[in-house]
Amino acid sequence: RAKSGLAEKICYYESSMDEAARVRRNTARDLWTAVENDELRLLYQVQRSLGDNSIVGYEALVRWQHPTRGLVPPVEFISIAEECGAIIEIGKWVLAQACEDAAKWNGDIKIAVNLSPAQLTDPDLVAFVRQALYRTGLSPRRLELEITESMVIADRTRALHILRQLKALGVTIAIDDFGTGYSSLDTLNAFRFDKIKIDRSFLKDSETNPQARTIIRAIVALGRSLEIKVLAEGVETKNQLDLLKLEGCEEAQGYLFGRPEAVEAAEARLLAQG
Ligand code: C2E
Ligand code: MG
Ligand code: MG
Ligand code: MG
Repeated sequence: RAKSGLAEKICYYESSMDEAARVRRNTARDLWTAVENDELRLLYQVQRSLGDNSIVGYEALVRWQHPTRGLVPPVEFISIAEECGAIIEIGKWVLAQACEDAAKWNGDIKIAVNLSPAQLTDPDLVAFVRQALYRTGLSPRRLELEITESMVIADRTRALHILRQLKALGVTIAIDDFGTGYSSLDTLNAFRFDKIKIDRSFLKDSETNPQARTIIRAIVALGRSLEIKVLAEGVETKNQLDLLKLEGCEEAQGYLFGRPEAVEAAEARLLAQG
């Protein structure tokens, strides 16, 4: 009995492995036509200044309107797109669309775009960004590129070279999910970043774990001494907002201010602010 139970478990394990592999294969196949079939969408999440509560920017977050699966979130396809290489085309679409949308907004509103590790090794990236800015008329200082710590680790010399070229265009560079990589301080030391985005896990823990709050305080102090802006991700409650204000954090983003929303809603929010 025990023996057959084990065999069953192995069989189940293998078939669920097959199933997972099949889903990944199908996803990869469909991803290759997602851009040309116009299936990608961008949502925008508001970023606010904690000083005067004004809107300082929007982060562009991609979704995939799949013909049969419905709206697919990035966790279900970005890593697969990186594996199969489709991320380059997807990343270009995101950059172009975000610049086009943001160019229509009034005021000095930033548009933050996530870059994947593969994009940071693409020799065409810098030219593509320059062209997207030129074509849409978006001022370079309004474009912010978000990269994660792991990207700088992968192929460091090359990644740093591309980052410097991007910065020379006049765009700003933010370090995303800060504090979750295994060499945060080293990354910070390697390049002159314009913004640190504190990973939302620290804020989530801050109410129950005083250590998390101390870490937030330290990151804010670090940003101040290095003259790097600090934004906190994942603000969900008034308590968390008050904590960030007390610690002197400059900017924040999270469900408390707004979920990622369609471009029309983001524009309406901007107009309402005046
Ligand atoms: P991220 O860049 O750290 O983006 C923030 C994520 O946190 C978004 O999830 C956002 O919806 C979510 N979020 C914002 N505020 C809150 C909050 O208060 N509470 C909670 N629980 N979550 C909050 P989303 O849109 O599912 O994106 C997940 C990740 O997928 C992003 O993390 C980013 O790493 C990646 N991603 C999204 N769009 C793109 C893209 O265009 N290109 C690339 N390469 N990656 C992208
Ligand atoms: Mg981001
Ligand atoms: Mg993040
Ligand atoms: Mg993330």
